[in-house]
Amino acid sequence: MTIEEAKAQMVEIFTENWGDGEFHGGPFWFDVIERADFRCEYCGEDIYEIHQWHQWEGDHLIPKSKGGGEEFDNKVCACMKCNRSKGTFDPRTGTDKRDRASLLAVAKAKVLHRLRDREQRYKDVREAIAVIRAHKLGI
Ligand SMILES: [Zn+2]
Repeated sequence: MTIEEAKAQMVEIFTENWGDGEFHGGPFWFDVIERADFRCEYCGEDIYEIHQWHQWEGDHLIPKSKGGGEEFDNKVCACMKCNRSKGTFDPRTGTDKRDRASLLAVAKAKVLHRLRDREQRYKDVREAIAVIRAHKLGI
């Protein structure tokens, strides 16, 4: 497979799944993902390594609910985990700068902080479950 064939294949798959509209279609999404060098722009996870490919998601850097648009610069290639962690966080609250790199840096810091926070909560929940199970079993 040549590089051109590989790109055409990805665009075809994106178009099948997201339609071919100006901002939702395959070529557009391919450009977003290629710009991100095929990695989640928050945690850096390589999308080549994601086995369930629907776990790649398109995030809006400035959330749509806060006035963010569908333009290329407002799109982020994200894994599902990071996109969920970002939620409706608006990176403009963290900086006076409005260029994509500055906003992305603020959003990335927020997402990674929330992921670490969530990891800790999962650990706490697992510990509590272990105690409850041990209690039930009379250990
Ligand atoms: Zn991620």
